[in-house]
Amino acid sequence: MQKNLLINGEMVEGAGAPISVLNPATGEELAAINAASSEQVDAASAAAEEAFQTYGQSTPAERAALLTDIVSVLEENAEDLAALESLDVGKPWPSALDDEMPLTTDTFRFFAGAARTMSGVAASEYVEGHTSMIRRDPIGPVAAIAPWNYPLMMAAWKLAAPLAAGCTVTLKPSQVTPLSTLKMAELIQNVVPNGVVNVLHGAGSSVGDQLINDSRTEAITITGSNRTGSEAMKAASKQIRHVHLELGGKAPVIVFEDADIDAVADIVRYGSFFNAGQDCAQPCRIMVADAIYDKVVAAVADQVGQIKVGAQRAEGTEMGPIVSAAQRDKVAGFVERARSSCEVVTGGNIIEGPGFFYEPTVLANVAHDAEAFCTEIFGPVVTISRFSDEVEALRVANTGHFGLASSVWTKDTGRAMRMTSKLRYGFTWVNTHGVATPEMPWAAMKSSGTGCDMSVYALDAYTAVRHIMIAHR
Ligand code: NAD
Repeated sequence: MQKNLLINGEMVEGAGAPISVLNPATGEELAAINAASSEQVDAASAAAEEAFQTYGQSTPAERAALLTDIVSVLEENAEDLAALESLDVGKPWPSALDDEMPLTTDTFRFFAGAARTMSGVAASEYVEGHTSMIRRDPIGPVAAIAPWNYPLMMAAWKLAAPLAAGCTVTLKPSQVTPLSTLKMAELIQNVVPNGVVNVLHGAGSSVGDQLINDSRTEAITITGSNRTGSEAMKAASKQIRHVHLELGGKAPVIVFEDADIDAVADIVRYGSFFNAGQDCAQPCRIMVADAIYDKVVAAVADQVGQIKVGAQRAEGTEMGPIVSAAQRDKVAGFVERARSSCEVVTGGNIIEGPGFFYEPTVLANVAHDAEAFCTEIFGPVVTISRFSDEVEALRVANTGHFGLASSVWTKDTGRAMRMTSKLRYGFTWVNTHGVATPEMPWAAMKSSGTGCDMSVYALDAYTAVRHIMIAHR
């Protein structure tokens, strides 16, 4: 198990206090890993700044080659990486290997190509006697901060786009789940030039805070909670830095009377409880037309009631534990507060025994202003509520401060078009939910963030648009 940090091309032991990393299925300690000391954070920022002087001048083809080399080492070690991810986060083993690893490596593969596709306004004589041209140059050293729910995939999202753009990156994974990212650091150590990628370990309030406030950090990218996003904005405002945020969500699943009910129930079983519901795009706010409400509740309850909960490698496990005791208790608190004002159709309890397990839970008849309907729970809980028509569905879905993922379920193309054009969310699926591909943006509106991860649009956060004008003298 790799416990060292990557600073300026060296794997070094953290000089800060140890942080305990637990197996969520047992509650037992997997490792105690020393955090970076303040001096080490400083050294990483210095290395990123120094390396930028060279890497920022590399050609797109050289960056593409680097990203392709990263793909190779990750693919060669996919089983080891997925094993750590599964152990650390509690994910079912087949899912860590077969669902998450391909998207992780494909993100690097996509950005290897994207590095060579910068486009912009044509050079021309917009002023007589002067030629103008557009440059898109790398923005500088990036501080990247990742959450605990998909550590490796988030590391890929936070590394691949800035590296493609010509930026150096210092990445801090969540202190709760650092194992796969530290292993990745070891694997890419000999692939990436010194200082181009640095990987630190430690708490957000110390290591993360120092990193995003370092004067050499030219851009901040964070995937995490809204509270952390707000800290990033504060840090960015002090030095006037670029900031890219992918934050929380509360995805509405808007089910009209002509929807395929079995398909909806299927997506709830396999989508809402994927990763134990710890997913910013989790289809969690199921809103159903009055006419089919009872049928949808019955179909969803039937499917969710069949979910097999267990440890990462137990035969047939569909859903693992919640990542920590604190997160499990937070989830339980939401359900306890909701219990008296709604119907607990299935689940609703902590699973006693070792580890941080919670039953897959469906709450029905949830009011549109209830806490469980409006607040991100980030666990294996979905709510079901009613609406009467398209106007009400749209109004309710667009109320509140989240604007990340959403889905609309209908066979009526006109209605799908009306709804998708008016929903104020970074992405909207029609008759599906949660399907992601690196070519398309993982985008955010409202308080769910700024900009996007994946797709060529992700390069915007890491490039500065510049105008060069040459007078014809
Ligand atoms: P979190 O905000 O607690 O932590 C995220 C990261 O930020 C961690 O690495 C943490 O150490 C760091 N951090 C915390 N305070 C910091 C500070 N002051 N300065 C710098 N870094 C700091 O989030 P989490 O609990 O790890 O993840 C869950 C949240 O992430 C949920 O809200 C979820 O919706 C969101 N998320 C969003 C997306 C997306 O693409 N929009 C994807 C995954 C998760």
